[in-house]
Amino acid sequence: AIPLVIAISTAMSARAGILVKDRLALERMRQVDAVLFDKTGTLTVGRPAVSGVAAADSVSEDELLALGAAAERDSEHPLATAVVTAAEARGPIPAAMEFRSLTGKGVRAVVDGAQISVGGPGLLRELELSVPSSIESQVGEWAGAGSTVLYVVRDGEVLGALALADEIRAESREAVALLRAQNVHTVMITGDARNVAESVAAKVGIDEVFAEVLPEDKDATVTSLQERGLSVAMVGDGVNDAPALARADVGVAIGAGTDVAVESAGVVLASDDPRGVVSARRLSSASYRKMV
Ligand code: ADP
Ligand code: MG
Repeated sequence: AIPLVIAISTAMSARAGILVKDRLALERMRQVDAVLFDKTGTLTVGRPAVSGVAAADSVSEDELLALGAAAERDSEHPLATAVVTAAEARGPIPAAMEFRSLTGKGVRAVVDGAQISVGGPGLLRELELSVPSSIESQVGEWAGAGSTVLYVVRDGEVLGALALADEIRAESREAVALLRAQNVHTVMITGDARNVAESVAAKVGIDEVFAEVLPEDKDATVTSLQERGLSVAMVGDGVNDAPALARADVGVAIGAGTDVAVESAGVVLASDDPRGVVSARRLSSASYRKMV
């Protein structure tokens, strides 16, 4: 027979939009010491849009955007979608060949016989290139304001940069404040640049930030928190969050997360609202307090 408390909490959880896939994960939820949030798509809406274009000296802004979009057209990354959408509004996008995705860094393709790469600061570091002085102050301003900056590189020359802004979810700040009030350590993880990450974290009230983390290293970050003696809940939505969700003491998939994320999680939040983590903790306490 199903214990009455479980039956009641299942009804409660359905009403709160919390799908419990693993009962033990829900049970562990009330004892979690740290909540690790993915930035993009979890604390932010995850639909970035191009908010600025800065061409260095050899191309116009329209050309910069068109070349970037050509290389991005075969990528499914939300940043790529944003670049293509912005470029389409300004004119035709040239054809590209030999598309390659550089996981956690950007993309590369051949456009009009030239090698075009688009990516963040990690890409520039890898190519040993620096930001042209003519756009340096603009880029600094964007990064300081929390925008993601992408660079467009043609045959080893940085042609310019694009700013992409992603909205912070209205509920993120409250979710973090509620957790902190319960003495839960709040942490954010992202593949995005450190300055962007710090800016979002400050706006949301997050305690600790892991930035510029490659997709394959996200689960190692969970392990490093666990090695500090913390019981960790990881909240994420993306394909590259799945190993970290599986590694965490409690994996929480948010909203219309990818199938892989949902599969790897013990708890699934039906809505996109990060406050669902707080509700899940409340449900966990209500369900298990009386049973021990
Ligand atoms: P997140 O942790 O935010 O999901 P990702 O690992 O998907 O981040 O990406 C990390 C960084 O890699 C991005 O901020 C960006 O700089 C770069 N990047 C990834 N994919 C692309 C792409 N298609 N075009 C340009 N840059 C990309
Ligand atoms: Mg993501």
